[in-house]
Amino acid sequence: MSIANCPRCNKIFRKSAGVMICQACLDAEEGDFQKVYAFLKENLSATVSEIQFATEVEEKLILKFLQDGRLAGTGAKLSPNCQGCGGAISSGRFCMNCLQKKRDQLINPVADRPEKNPDIGLPAAKDDGGVRHQLRTEKYLRDR
Ligand SMILES: [Zn+2]
Ligand SMILES: [Zn+2]
Repeated sequence: MSIANCPRCNKIFRKSAGVMICQACLDAEEGDFQKVYAFLKENLSATVSEIQFATEVEEKLILKFLQDGRLAGTGAKLSPNCQGCGGAISSGRFCMNCLQKKRDQLINPVADRPEKNPDIGLPAAKDDGGVRHQLRTEKYLRDR
């Protein structure tokens, strides 16, 4: 057993095998899980963003539950998988990481980065996330 900073709340806690976050956060996460699970069970076709809206649980956490397979028991068909890495995503075809990588490949790495587009991959970008992203990049290149 050793002492570590909790990655969620940054408090110092006693770390033990298999426990990566402090007890308080563990409890909070479990509570969040119960909320997500209950909501999803009643709303089998809900998207991650709808769950996020309804339960106020962070998208990141919902995706983590999803990736851990903990939501499979609800019977909901939640989200497609990223075509780049196969990870769970809320909408579109690629996860944030893959979108980021694609963008890095498209633009000159020594040029100033365009302003961040925090909305990429969020519900508004549904289905055309990749296309819209590409258009933005083209515009960026043209405007230079
Ligand atoms: Zn914590
Ligand atoms: Zn990916």
